[in-house]
Amino acid sequence: MEPTDSSPATSNITVRRGEPLVVVKNINKHYGELHVLKNINAVVNRGEVVVVIGPSGSGKSTLCRAINRLETIDDGVITIDGVKLPAEGKALAHLRADVGMVFQAFNLFAHKTVLENVTLGPMKVRGLSKAEAEKKAMALLERVGVANQAKKMPAQLSGGQQQRVAIARALAMEPKLILLDEPTSALDPEMINEVLEVMVDLANEGMTMIVVTHEMGFARKAADRVIFMAEGEIVEETSPEEFFTNPQSLRAQDFLSKIL
Ligand code: ADP
Ligand code: MG
Repeated sequence: MEPTDSSPATSNITVRRGEPLVVVKNINKHYGELHVLKNINAVVNRGEVVVVIGPSGSGKSTLCRAINRLETIDDGVITIDGVKLPAEGKALAHLRADVGMVFQAFNLFAHKTVLENVTLGPMKVRGLSKAEAEKKAMALLERVGVANQAKKMPAQLSGGQQQRVAIARALAMEPKLILLDEPTSALDPEMINEVLEVMVDLANEGMTMIVVTHEMGFARKAADRVIFMAEGEIVEETSPEEFFTNPQSLRAQDFLSKIL
């Protein structure tokens, strides 16, 4: 274990801030004839918040899924904290546990309570006792503002609440980074901010984050960098300010003219 700071949920992220945590090198991915990731290169440093933005179908989700090894890649190398993917079996389970993932559609276990959703991973993968896992889960549910929902089933919660539980569940594994793939795009407008606020807090606490989102407010408030993807390529990589006010490529200009 690395030295820890005072906050259990973020204990392993404040050390060695600034070093490369995720390194993506020359990766390619095809679905049949379709070349969805075209020689992608990217580095995410510890403590950095990177927003990935781009048109539908540009490969954003595939890239996220590749980083969590939910997808295989054809060639190239992905390393997380110096450990190369792909790995298999137990090693893969542990590598995956280092990468918290929050998806667009609420992917909580429907037949488990909110509390069980958050305790399951830490008990199974991290070896926590039930009591330890519950204590930690309650603290995290508190932190994302849904502690009073702990005994309920996911379907009894609003979309915004479910997404906050999904974030708590990801954090419970003490991941080295979290990947959020359009976490607010399936939410009703009035629930978007409650989720974005939790994300901004996490960013401010130094969590390493890769966030696929078109929420410009979040990007401006929390992102260190914006990566703009189109047709399987990284087309621009720049500061949020620069990207939104002065996009360089025609594709980014065209994309922004449609979403702003
Ligand atoms: P984005 O998240 O940017 O909208 P995706 O990464 O989901 O893009 O998809 C990139 C491209 O790959 C799209 O053309 C999509 O239709 C295709 N694609 C994604 N998943 C699959 C799959 N499992 N099988 C075949 N094609 C896929
Ligand atoms: Mg997607």
